[in-house]
Amino acid sequence: MDRFYFDANASAPPHPKVVEVVHRAMSEDWANPTSTHREGQRARHRLEEARRALAEHLGVAPAELVFCSSATEAAHLLFGGMKTELGDRPICVNPGEHSAVLNQLQDWKHINWAPEIPKECAMVVQMGANNETGALKPMPQIGKALRIMDAAQMWGKVPMDLSKSDAAFLSGHKMGGPRGAALLWMRPMLPFEPVMEGPQERRRRGGTEDLAAILGLAEAAKHVSERLEAQARLAPLRDAMETEICSWSSDFDVLCKPEARLPNTSALLLRGHSGEAVQMALDLAGFAVSTGSACHSGSVKPSHAVMALGYSEPEARSVIRISMLPGTTEVQVEALTGALKRILRR
Ligand code: PLP
Repeated sequence: MDRFYFDANASAPPHPKVVEVVHRAMSEDWANPTSTHREGQRARHRLEEARRALAEHLGVAPAELVFCSSATEAAHLLFGGMKTELGDRPICVNPGEHSAVLNQLQDWKHINWAPEIPKECAMVVQMGANNETGALKPMPQIGKALRIMDAAQMWGKVPMDLSKSDAAFLSGHKMGGPRGAALLWMRPMLPFEPVMEGPQERRRRGGTEDLAAILGLAEAAKHVSERLEAQARLAPLRDAMETEICSWSSDFDVLCKPEARLPNTSALLLRGHSGEAVQMALDLAGFAVSTGSACHSGSVKPSHAVMALGYSEPEARSVIRISMLPGTTEVQVEALTGALKRILRR
């Protein structure tokens, strides 16, 4: 049976050039970049080349980038590293943030949920693009508050501007890069104490760098502009699909529809249906979609991000997320829509 993949926001396949680069690096550049012999120095040189290329791509300074393994780890390093200084001060967090971010802030003392912004706000945390609805959010500019952006879903899907933020998390496996390579970007003035001791990454993240994955990440960044063009071509397909599905019932809606959204993402509210049952039926029919964040799939709880938008628990449980890969075709979208129609009419 043919399979159709509509879960790009969970993970996307690496670009073919990335596979080549990672493959070559695993056989040629396997030495430890911290070693002082010639093999190690060659690995160090390749690592710093990748850092410079990525910094140029993002418009930041190379020394401001910390290589790590995932956006979750980047959030852990950053919030853990700033907790001593900021953990007791009022901060403002978007309630729809990814659990990778919320989990790291669990025991901070004074969390205010956006749009409530305390006067003495020391830090604002805002995702650039929501993983479930695709909604794009500008970074609030609040006095001297540090501005932390979760850019995990934005990178490679819409143009990104880090200039109005002070730190960001970026993930490789959603933009054509390999799993296991991600970035923490942070301005040097941030109060930061390392939580993962070690000499690597200027003591900000201990542990031998995964050079092959990092070289793959730098290769993926080279293809971001073509990826952005392919992403932009998805918006009309996505919009037509939403119009068709919403025409089947007045109980069906699209989350955050009037807002600016990622061009590939559609969160469909199918009132009266179980999102989980629909997702499983689609899977059996050959279509991979999700009920929201991959980290919540299979969880008994409804999505906190959907509930934060003011929807009831049964409504939150009726949502399915369709997130298209660059290159998705009209024929594939029509096949998905046809299968969904048959499932909803059973
Ligand atoms: N932030 C957002 C908005 C995400 O969608 C995800 C993953 O789905 C993450 C953070 C975590 O990324 P990673 O899988 O690289 O840990």
